Amino acid sequence: MGMVRQTKSVKSILKVFEARNTPISAVELIELFSNQMNKSTVYRILERLQEASTLHSFIGKDGVKWYAVCHCLDSSNHQIHPHFQCNNCGKIECLPINISVPQVAKYNIESASLLLSGKCTNCTS
Ligand SMILES: [Zn+2]
Ligand SMILES: [Zn+2]
Repeated sequence: MGMVRQTKSVKSILKVFEARNTPISAVELIELFSNQMNKSTVYRILERLQEASTLHSFIGKDGVKWYAVCHCLDSSNHQIHPHFQCNNCGKIECLPINISVPQVAKYNIESASLLLSGKCTNCTS
């Protein structure tokens, strides 16, 4: 895991992730920090945190990009965890399971993602 210089901006972004403990969309982060930093600064910080494996990103419904803290799982190339998005309330989360990415002869698989959707625990009960 690499290190990202903990500037004031980096710290305030990480603080939001710590407080929420759920994935946050790029759009929402830009909005949250709109009076502190511009859009490209937010994107640059997110990118750096992702390179350092502090955050990971994935695409949710409607092509929205989400970021979440990496704390759960073994992040080897051949294991991924799926993400879940509720069709009813829109809640989104990292699922605490590992899925093995199939290896395909002659192809070098570099990434994989799986978005599951349905009803979350709040919406089924
Ligand atoms: Zn729900
Ligand atoms: Zn995740």
